[in-house]
Amino acid sequence: MGKANLRPAFYDELTGLPKFNLLRNVLTDYIVRRSCNQFVGVDRFALVYLDINNFTYLNETYGYKVCDNIIKCIAEYLATKVSDLNYVTRVTSDKFAILCTDFESHQKIYDKIEEVINGCNICISDQAIHITMSAGIALFPDHGRDIDTLMKKAETASYLAKKTGKDINIYSDKLQKDIIEQVQMINKLQNGIDKEEFLLFYQPEYNLITNEIIGVEALVRWPQPEKGFISPDIFIPIAEKSKQIYSLERWIINEALQQKERWEKSGLDNIELSINLSSKTLESESNFQKIEEIISSYQVDFTKIIFEITETIILSQVDLAIERLKRLRAYGIKIALDDFGTGYSSLTHIMKLPIDIIKIDKSFIQSIPHGNEETVITNNILSLAHELNFRVVAEGIETQEQLDYLKHTSCERGQGYLLCKPLPSDKLNDILRK
Ligand code: C2E
Ligand code: CA
Ligand code: CA
Repeated sequence: MGKANLRPAFYDELTGLPKFNLLRNVLTDYIVRRSCNQFVGVDRFALVYLDINNFTYLNETYGYKVCDNIIKCIAEYLATKVSDLNYVTRVTSDKFAILCTDFESHQKIYDKIEEVINGCNICISDQAIHITMSAGIALFPDHGRDIDTLMKKAETASYLAKKTGKDINIYSDKLQKDIIEQVQMINKLQNGIDKEEFLLFYQPEYNLITNEIIGVEALVRWPQPEKGFISPDIFIPIAEKSKQIYSLERWIINEALQQKERWEKSGLDNIELSINLSSKTLESESNFQKIEEIISSYQVDFTKIIFEITETIILSQVDLAIERLKRLRAYGIKIALDDFGTGYSSLTHIMKLPIDIIKIDKSFIQSIPHGNEETVITNNILSLAHELNFRVVAEGIETQEQLDYLKHTSCERGQGYLLCKPLPSDKLNDILRK
């Protein structure tokens, strides 16, 4: 793949890089010769499609002249990053293609491109400009036997990487199918959020000794025409990745607090209300402030509001989590640690956090009464949590045996299908009034 006798018309004026047409010619020639067994040496290559993120935004911020310089710097950077066996071309304004022939495995090419993407720091007139890129990788001959097919797959791989919050994506039929479904789900979710297609169900929490309802947990439901519900276990993680959780959760909190207001007005003012908070919500200050605004706009008994969080946030950003949880507590709101036991936190670690309640994950409760490891752990959690003055709630109680066992080990609060399934608010009202 020599570069010697190629005409200057094949080179990009701004960057001096070869144009993609040149690469197309070189590769087409290469593929033909390879199929005639005339080519000995490299028998596969990767085509990488590189796209600068938010280039329109850069143009608006810095103007076209500076952006031309940015492109030039990036082109220079890419040219220095690739060795003799590789080849960089400019495809269109902010898009480049790299041909890589010297790699040993999928992982190696991934790592190499990751290094290229992460090392791109541009400085224009002493001003550092942060550049991020997305890359899609297609491999010859695995993903196509002609350059246009490969380019198309590399481009889709990069587009889908961006859509799902990743930097790099190697094309694969299976992954592509999954990602396309995910992207469709993201679009469907957006439509659902815009049209407020969601509902809240409420699952009662009981005092296991007196059998009284002490509170309810709000659980989001997404009804589908003639198809029941899509489970929050499916759409919440996707909404977290796409950050749509921010707007969805604002709707959930508003809806739940309105319900709390209605319950208080109708005399049910003792009922505690638990709302699940995504760890994403605690990560973003601007989003967290919007949630504080929503909370401030209600006049309910906040000492009867509980936010349930999981360990993910606590482990990743302890200090921020503590600070924001304290801001919630300043309203009188209580904090529950959900799914306890599934993560890595020990109770002593949790002692340092502003947490009032521990909810033992249902996987532990469901191991009762088989006397295995989980049951021993459940016992230990219960006795330690009591000593440390946490309120403990057992979730996922499904059998009488489990209920009896929990009562016996003095776990005084619990939730589960045995006691009551999550219900829409109107159905729940009848139960609450009994
Ligand atoms: P989670 O917070 O642990 O909620 C408890 C889940 O267990 C609920 O599933 C509930 O319906 C289910 N459940 C209750 N009792 C039993 C039982 O006896 N046995 C079994 N096997 N399951 C029981 P759901 O409603 O499908 O929610 C799944 C997860 O989705 C929740 O787990 C929570 O992580 C998330 N989620 C649900 N609603 C919201 C929400 O409004 N906001 C956020 N951020 N996440 C939510
Ligand atoms: Ca929960
Ligand atoms: Ca849980």
